[in-house]
Amino acid sequence: MKLSNGHRRTPRRVVVTGGAGFLGSHLCQALLEAGSEVLCMDNFITGTPVNVLHLQEHPRFRLIRCDVTDFVHVPGEVDLVLHFASPASPIDYLKLPIHTLKVGAIGTWHALGLAKDKGARFVLASTSEVYGDPQVHPQPESYWGHVNPIGPRGVYDEGKRYGEALTTAYRCSEDVDTGIVRIFNTYGPRMRPHDGRAIPTFIRQALGDEPITLAGDGLQTRSVCYVDDLIAGILAFAGSAHPGPVNIGNPDEMTVRRIAEDIVAASGSRSEIISIDRPVDDPQVRRPDTALAEELLGWRPLVPWEKGLERTVAWFRDEATAAGELPPESLVG
Ligand code: NAD
Repeated sequence: MKLSNGHRRTPRRVVVTGGAGFLGSHLCQALLEAGSEVLCMDNFITGTPVNVLHLQEHPRFRLIRCDVTDFVHVPGEVDLVLHFASPASPIDYLKLPIHTLKVGAIGTWHALGLAKDKGARFVLASTSEVYGDPQVHPQPESYWGHVNPIGPRGVYDEGKRYGEALTTAYRCSEDVDTGIVRIFNTYGPRMRPHDGRAIPTFIRQALGDEPITLAGDGLQTRSVCYVDDLIAGILAFAGSAHPGPVNIGNPDEMTVRRIAEDIVAASGSRSEIISIDRPVDDPQVRRPDTALAEELLGWRPLVPWEKGLERTVAWFRDEATAAGELPPESLVG
């Protein structure tokens, strides 16, 4: 299966936990396009079967309703397990704190057990949140982070940190071929308008000409990656034998205020920007050091912010129009 350059052939049979979520659904689609058979496992707690509706008729796709904290069983061979099941937006994990910890711990344990049983490669979707409110900028993989375990975000950040430790233990003591990818903020089609993350919130508000709710003065920074770039990076990493952790994200750093202003402009909106309180432990800066991903995988993001934003706004507009929340564009004067 392994090629001489350390990269592998397209995996034949892949399990994607959390496959009906934002990132999972794009992963399933990309894997099908690459020729893999895809078993998408999801309990729809924050995702929806609608995200993979367009894949349902594909002969190599199967959607399995399952909570990975109960058990994970798959008959037959599996080459690759991509463990993406977890609430990911602050609104979700603040509403589901115990579940978030359970899926980070027990769900990861079950997914690792599956990979061990099948002799498959395992990739953990970790996060830039393991760096917390960072004191090193930009964040290289060698940075251990600055996380508040008892703050409201601790359930997510520490769940992922535990997941990284568990993944490493399976590699060292159980000889499982594991990899850890630290994903930085990603945006694109199929984000939920009400998931509370800045970009979908601002786009929803801008399309409705509602006030844009900027946290604090908006001078905190984020580095956002278009979803197609992220998926390409993850699949390149999954196809390597590298243990990681590897940062995958776009190092193009912007203030949140600029993100809000660009969204108002790209939506042709009349929204004004207003200030609301900053969430507790909201990171002040966020930017990946992507040197390792470039060196290891030859990967770097290709979609500029303006282009990715244009595609994302167009998708949100189409969805809102289809849901009857916006008039068809032909009727807009
Ligand atoms: P999402 O909420 O859209 O997707 C997560 C999916 O996991 C959902 O479909 C949900 O129903 C499913 N899920 C949750 N608990 C489950 C369980 N116990 N059993 C089965 N399925 C379960 O979020 P997303 O943005 O697509 O994030 C996917 C993964 O990537 C998460 O692990 C997240 O931590 C990680 N990540 C995402 C980002 C980002 O910017 N989107 C950044 C860093 C890390």
